[in-house]
Amino acid sequence: MTTAAPGLLERARAGEKRAVARLLSVVENDEPGAAEAVSALYPLTGHAQIVGVTGPPGGGKSTLVNRLAGAYREHTGRVAVVAVDPSSPFTGGALLGDRIRMRDRFLDEGLFIRSMASRGHSGGLARATSRIVNVLDALGYGVVLVETVGVGQEEVALVRVADTVCLVTVPGLGDDIQAIKAGVLEIADVLVVNKADRPGADETARDLSQMLKLGKSRTEWVPPIVRTSASTGEGVDLLIGAIEKHRAWSATSGERERRRREAARAEVEQLLREALVRRLRDRVGSDGVERAVARVADRSIDPYAAVEELLRE
Ligand code: GDP
Repeated sequence: MTTAAPGLLERARAGEKRAVARLLSVVENDEPGAAEAVSALYPLTGHAQIVGVTGPPGGGKSTLVNRLAGAYREHTGRVAVVAVDPSSPFTGGALLGDRIRMRDRFLDEGLFIRSMASRGHSGGLARATSRIVNVLDALGYGVVLVETVGVGQEEVALVRVADTVCLVTVPGLGDDIQAIKAGVLEIADVLVVNKADRPGADETARDLSQMLKLGKSRTEWVPPIVRTSASTGEGVDLLIGAIEKHRAWSATSGERERRRREAARAEVEQLLREALVRRLRDRVGSDGVERAVARVADRSIDPYAAVEELLRE
């Protein structure tokens, strides 16, 4: 474990929030001891239920996640929330927004909240997120809710860590629904029409159902469409029901194993790439790489040939 803080792992496993936060920082920022911590914790992972919540900003994700966290806390042990905002430069600990939204849950020792932002992660935000989730899983958090903003490719990578992905839309999104169509609908296991207290919820649910029929599904799972009103809590029990149904299906159909294998593959391949590049750099030296870069830049050699040469050296 980290030489800087002996006993940190033990304190974190006992559920001491400050220790959990510190351990997550070590891992997230690749501080000394990070690799050891990840290795020590890895065998303890694989037990948490990981639920992703994604969708456009303002759709009520935070409010909904707050509700879900509260509901899961009633019948699960410890619950963690990881809020990832790829557009935010801030990271570590709780942002102001978290403190405000989690005001009523602040004193709940069994609920842990973490915010993550885009900057400062070697290996990318998706990997940092998956590490954070793994640590929380190993520490005994039974449910980890991963909230991400947006409906683009980056968010798709982020939610890969989840066993079940909930896509949150709201009535009257119009063009945004079209944007969702372009690629993100396929990753959704449960479709949520939040703010169902507003007019147009039925129409939005109908649009989504149309889109589902048009798109072709990878599996036999048909994403249910659930209407919620996060601000009042209405429909949250139905959402949990849908998540649990997907969880049961994933376990029996092999989907859960398939996803976990994909996540493991992504991680191993990334580490392998990094290790290979490091070794190659060690062998040819950074001068060697720089010389090749200079020759590519002045057009005396093409990039493919330069790489071939470096690999031959
Ligand atoms: P996020 O950006 O997706 O995380 O959205 P927030 O949870 O911050 O919610 C955005 C705004 O929508 C806030 O003012 C919420 O109070 C409001 N809101 C959230 N859920 C509902 C809902 O079900 N109905 C209505 N009318 N407003 C909601």
